Amino acid sequence: MLKNDPIANILRVDLEHKSYAVERREDLFDQYIGGTGVASKLLLDECPEGCDPLEPENPIILAIGPMTGAYPLASKTIAMFKSPLTGDLGESHCGGRSALAIRNAGFGAIVIKGKADIPVYLSIYDHAVHFRNATTLWGMSSNTTVGKIIRANEAGAGTRSIMRIGRAGENLVRYACVTAETYRHFGRMGLGAVFGSKNLKAISISGKDKYPVSDIKEYRKLYDEIYQASVKSALMKKYHDLGTSVNVNVLNGIGALPTRNVESGKFDQANTISGEYLAEHYLGRRLACTGCPVACIHIANLREPYEDEPYFYKTTSISYDHELIYAAGSMLGIGDPEKFLKLMDQIEKVGLDAITAGATMAWATEAFKKGVITETETNGIKPDWGDHLGYIKMARFIVDPPNQFYKDMALGSFQASRIYGGQEYAMAFGKNEMAGYHTGPAGYIGFAIGARHSHLDNAGYSVDQKKLMEKEIEPETVVDELVKEEEWRQIISSIIICFFARAIYTPDIVVRALKLAGFDITTKDLEKIGKEIYRNKYAFKFREGFKIDASQIPKRIYETKSPVAYLTEDYVNRALKHFEKLIQP
Ligand code: SF4
Repeated sequence: MLKNDPIANILRVDLEHKSYAVERREDLFDQYIGGTGVASKLLLDECPEGCDPLEPENPIILAIGPMTGAYPLASKTIAMFKSPLTGDLGESHCGGRSALAIRNAGFGAIVIKGKADIPVYLSIYDHAVHFRNATTLWGMSSNTTVGKIIRANEAGAGTRSIMRIGRAGENLVRYACVTAETYRHFGRMGLGAVFGSKNLKAISISGKDKYPVSDIKEYRKLYDEIYQASVKSALMKKYHDLGTSVNVNVLNGIGALPTRNVESGKFDQANTISGEYLAEHYLGRRLACTGCPVACIHIANLREPYEDEPYFYKTTSISYDHELIYAAGSMLGIGDPEKFLKLMDQIEKVGLDAITAGATMAWATEAFKKGVITETETNGIKPDWGDHLGYIKMARFIVDPPNQFYKDMALGSFQASRIYGGQEYAMAFGKNEMAGYHTGPAGYIGFAIGARHSHLDNAGYSVDQKKLMEKEIEPETVVDELVKEEEWRQIISSIIICFFARAIYTPDIVVRALKLAGFDITTKDLEKIGKEIYRNKYAFKFREGFKIDASQIPKRIYETKSPVAYLTEDYVNRALKHFEKLIQP
């Protein structure tokens, strides 16, 4: 790396003593580049073995990369922590302005430890950390209002990032998210609960630092090449036009849209919650993360009349994408677009991860219908497919539980099903609820073996659609391919680029960009580093008790027809056995 690059500065914050320090770690960035590489090494070194994810010693690590702020779509921040949802590796990615704000503030990573004695938020600017009293923000019903208040009081208008939790994080719901800039999230694996456990309501960060490149002429040439590729790419155009919600009709067409807790891969009302329908009837605007020419973030405007006030309307802006449409739409049998948007609005306000919330409420609905739980547990709600009002109430109860059942719902579907029953239809992999793809075996194997158990780890759903629907491939070959993809993704999320641009950032482009950032690295070196980062993540998972366990795969996936005919238990078990041999230390 370049010797004068502030990327190697790690800001260390101690909430207990309300103190901070800056440590320079060129060694760490030289070895692991940035982002997920640096964060996973810090987690491995600094999270005490066996610690409770909600205890003060669990660190929150935020990291960006050497290309942040310098190239198109270099827009993401990596958060790493021990996950309160899964009990092992917690990793979440967020865009908005978060990455650029950390870069401009003069840091490559932030490590937060300890627990404040009262609710606080951090205001970081001019290389200083201010610990603000957040007692009046704690308990506010809307996450959006919290953002507005901090915006009105803190420095850095226009360039700052404000990352904050809602009531779900305060109340330690194990799948609470952290919201940045209103429409972006560290969505998955419960970072919001870790914030809450530390009495940390929010972080506001901004700065005006500059960062170096080694050859300005070559940099401009490369920037332009990447920019042109980004704006001319057909794939990027798809993300701009309809966003990821373009997938809803496509997946439904092939019978791969998880519907009513994966009772089916076809939803008869998919069209009215599809990207096309929402764009035609509700799309208000598109937004972009900082430094992104694509703008894939789609915001719907929902206009509702006030009760008893004809011609008076309130308009609510609600973001949507494929995963949200799946989780708060088809998975719960909601096909009415306004009902879907209203449920999403509630999930957003309280700060829940929509995927886990939707899948957990889907499990509860099926459990209720099968008599596994009753109205005593649900506190009078009769959960039913399509009943958005019931689900809005449930989302509230998960955050402010009226009884033990909702406290257990706040642990996610995996844990709740171990208490009440219905494991075979609790749609979680590695204790993390599945994303919106019932495409076939590669998708599910990808969820099971991915370090985060996320669709973004290795995109197995795409292997189903591009290869397995055409011809049968041995499960061992599928695993080898997914692992290779996941190893490469460690590089993309270390430099760190939005995954939507992964086809543009080829190994050659990455090597050229890193050279300008002072890294003398070949494509072979990148392969080696990607492998090492992936192994570091698994080292942490195994250390914290993760097991590859075929018996934990929900049986439902084998019962519901998928576009790949041979989605069988035998096939998945063979894949997991092969993976175990590959990954065990
Ligand atoms: S493509 Fe979308 S998610 Fe990715 S950087 Fe651009 S706006 Fe953000």
